[in-house]
Amino acid sequence: MLSATVAHEVAHLRHMDHGPAFHAFVAELFGGDPAPERAWLRANGAALYNIGSSARMADDPPPSPGG
Ligand SMILES: [Zn+2]
Repeated sequence: MLSATVAHEVAHLRHMDHGPAFHAFVAELFGGDPAPERAWLRANGAALYNIGSSARMADDPPPSPGG
């Protein structure tokens, strides 16, 4: 998993977007199509965003009754 992430980051040094050239370069660095790793990143990336929003919501005080 980490090697695909590193390949992704290294590819961004050359392509500052997620266009076809970027993905072609990632595949070149990774030595193949990192589709499973990309799926893992998508799932975990969403989870990370959810953790962030949940933490922010938990910091909000509960609504006062009868407010
Ligand atoms: Zn990226």
